[in-house]
Amino acid sequence: MQKLDHWIGGASSAPSAGEYLDVIDPASGNEVRRIASGNAADISAAVAAAEAAAEAWRQVPGLARARLFSDLARAMRENAQELAGLEISETGKPESVALGEVEGSATYFDFYGGLIGMPIGETLDVAPDQHVYTRREPFGVVGVITPWNVPINQAARACAPALAAGNVVVVKPSEYTSSTTVRLAQLASEVGFAPGVFNVVLGGGAGAGAALVQHPSVAKVAFTGSVPTGRAIGKIAAERIIPLTLELGGKSANIIFADADLDAAVAGSLQAFTANAGQVCSAGTRLLVHRSVHDEVVKRLVDRAANVRVGRDIGPLITRDQFSRVQEYFAVAESDGAVAAAGGTVSAVARETGGFYIDPTIYTGVDNTARIAREEIFGPVVVVIPFDDDTEAVALANDSDYGLVAGVWTKDVSRALTVSDRLRVGQVFVNTWSTASVQTPFGGWKNSGYGREKGVEALHHYSQVKCVTIKL
Ligand code: NAD
Repeated sequence: MQKLDHWIGGASSAPSAGEYLDVIDPASGNEVRRIASGNAADISAAVAAAEAAAEAWRQVPGLARARLFSDLARAMRENAQELAGLEISETGKPESVALGEVEGSATYFDFYGGLIGMPIGETLDVAPDQHVYTRREPFGVVGVITPWNVPINQAARACAPALAAGNVVVVKPSEYTSSTTVRLAQLASEVGFAPGVFNVVLGGGAGAGAALVQHPSVAKVAFTGSVPTGRAIGKIAAERIIPLTLELGGKSANIIFADADLDAAVAGSLQAFTANAGQVCSAGTRLLVHRSVHDEVVKRLVDRAANVRVGRDIGPLITRDQFSRVQEYFAVAESDGAVAAAGGTVSAVARETGGFYIDPTIYTGVDNTARIAREEIFGPVVVVIPFDDDTEAVALANDSDYGLVAGVWTKDVSRALTVSDRLRVGQVFVNTWSTASVQTPFGGWKNSGYGREKGVEALHHYSQVKCVTIKL
């Protein structure tokens, strides 16, 4: 069985304890490779390599650093098939989706490489005899912890701005999906990033992940994952007084008003809860529909869902545990009196392949207090809830512990603007779902987290301000 080791100081590094974890292909249930199971000693080695590289990396002139970014983006594109293949082997994603995610990941290096050297300091007119200016400086070693749903994308999303701001990184990817992050770091080394600038330590959260957050030389942590883990990391970060970005979960509302273009709204709403088999933090899993078009929307959604080819258009759930968890939610939905207008079952594809496949599932007949309307399920499952007016739609949308994204479907510009203003979320999509790009700041309100990834905004989260006052 193939083994995958850490990437520390520009080279492969076996786990100090000699232990490995199994990685399962969720499309078949078979073991695909074994990955290093990192511990605190491995984290210390990676942080030491990063610290050794930090000052020199910071001193690389902006244009030279930007050139490395563009070389890395090119290398990712040249190796897109290999990267996509690795991702598919651990997630079961359709090839077109995996290739799209590799391209999106390369775009982070295009974008942040282009921003290197842009003016980000200010001069402040304080007094005639003072010259006062601000500059943004890197933190040093940034710890990045990522989940399994869009693995290379989440690694690139955090590492590109962190490195562009002059930091060095130690990444701990999900233990289910480590391969593309290691390959990304290898490609960085191949195009000329100095050893130690981009390190990857593999393994579980309780071992390698927690040790990374606790390490005294890690000066900032960027975490993407679940609320319980975010909370645990937040406690350590508070104790250590280090900044933290938390990109957590969601239960995002997608609102269809009676005046919407129903064809577009239904197509977008299907995409909103089925993309990546629903394993997306920003999935639109609460579909709020004006009562006058509720039945029509449900009918059209069910018709469209029937055309989703499970196993070809959408992949499996990531693990056997997640597969079981979604099935437990089916039992919860049933006991709460929900009606499955579509799905609510394991897919026939699961029985044929041994993979963890679920059919797109559409529930009606419950209100916003039902567990399936409040908890993040992380499968292709949506609950449709009717509303009577704009005020109720906004109240229902905001009645959630989460605040990641929301969708608004209407032809009325005033309504689109008014409703968008009142939604307590980090981003709103109007008459579209998730066409956000690398340029758009992304992050949550409420339990969906804090801090922002993407856009120019992210650079501010990977750098700290210094203000210098000079008496003239
Ligand atoms: P998770 O919290 O279980 O794991 C995420 C990462 O944290 C993994 O690398 C894991 O090994 C590590 N980890 C686990 N326990 C840890 C600990 N005690 N200390 C340090 N690290 C630890 O989440 P998951 O199941 O991998 O991912 C799914 C979750 O991620 C969902 O809630 C989803 O909404 C969220 N997510 C959010 C975004 C976003 O941008 N907001 C994007 C993708 C996924």
